[in-house]
Amino acid sequence: MIMIRKKTSLNSFEESSYVRELIDESNIRTGFFVAVLTMGYAIFLSMAYFSYQGIRLDYPLIQYLFQYRWVAHAFLFAASLWFVVYSVISYFKKKTSLVRISVCFYVLSCCYFGLHTSLLEYQMGQQPITLFLMQTIAFCGICMHPAHSFLLLFVINSCFYFLAVIISGISFLLATKIFLFTLALCVISLVRYWDAVAAGRDRENLYKMSAYDALTGAQSRYALRNHFNQGIGCKVGMATLDIDIFKQYNDQYGHEFGDKVLKTFCNIVTDYFGKDAVYRIGGDEFLVVQRDMDAQAFIHVCENVNKKFAETRIDDVQGFACSIGYVIGKTKSAEDLRNFFRLSDKKLYEAKETGRNRICGIEV
Ligand code: GH3
Ligand code: MG
Repeated sequence: MIMIRKKTSLNSFEESSYVRELIDESNIRTGFFVAVLTMGYAIFLSMAYFSYQGIRLDYPLIQYLFQYRWVAHAFLFAASLWFVVYSVISYFKKKTSLVRISVCFYVLSCCYFGLHTSLLEYQMGQQPITLFLMQTIAFCGICMHPAHSFLLLFVINSCFYFLAVIISGISFLLATKIFLFTLALCVISLVRYWDAVAAGRDRENLYKMSAYDALTGAQSRYALRNHFNQGIGCKVGMATLDIDIFKQYNDQYGHEFGDKVLKTFCNIVTDYFGKDAVYRIGGDEFLVVQRDMDAQAFIHVCENVNKKFAETRIDDVQGFACSIGYVIGKTKSAEDLRNFFRLSDKKLYEAKETGRNRICGIEV
């Protein structure tokens, strides 16, 4: 049975679906702003560099870079534009299926643009500011797995270093600055990711706390609301199960014993129906929603639950009983499901009113 997850250590970078979801959402939000920024930067630098004529084209590499500078500009512009459009669409449609590939495309374009432009800047005797700027925007704005950011930073900055050495040598001071800058971005990217992992785990714990009942481990009403629509369009067996004269156990043997009875009853119900089908909807009342199950089999399982509970012994107390109301039929809409819910509750009351310890139901 799924229980509330223990607090886990943050030593490992385990990326659960909650962490992944949180990172994707964060990248969509921040991605919009950083992509607008880099799109503007691509346009501005295109105008500046395309009008620039005074560059010394001593090396074939520089000649090549200068000739094909539009590639880096077009790549950055296209990736930024795509990211802006994609983040707006995903923000409203709540879809994140392409976010990873968009992030990859965007970060690569920033790195390539930074490297390409800064080699030209370096040749022109300027500081390689664009490389620093593009990497700052990409690695601070976008949250990535540290292994990916470390690798990318190492490869791009090593390329810049070696190409700068080949072009005109590099001063010790600039080499140190590049190294320190790379180190700083690695630390920032690590901390950002670590934060996301911690926030993702908090989100996971919060979800589990609200989706599962703390006493019995059954799913909660909140989970039922989230799963409710999954029953639309299929044959559904719905049953409301309630322990008979449960209050008496509380009054006679104490609340702790009552808790034990509740847990035992819940275990029996989940053993027969499966933990994904069972919800605790009130004090001693449970709901079962089973999809695509044969009607006779469903009724048979209800009878087995009733029989098993009647045979159960808890701390030398026996003679437990439960009443069950069920409804089986095909649902076409959420309204049908809500009607099933009302009907199975009505059938439960019928079972209570006609003497308890019985099963009443209907096939519609
Ligand atoms: P009936 O046969 O009509 O269902 O009678 P009942 O006594 O089972 O029904 P009633 O609704 O009067 O009693 C339910 C009791 O369940 C009342 C409440 O004190 C108790 N209860 C609710 N939640 C818990 C819980 O978490 N633990 C314990 N021990 N008791 C609970
Ligand atoms: Mg009861």
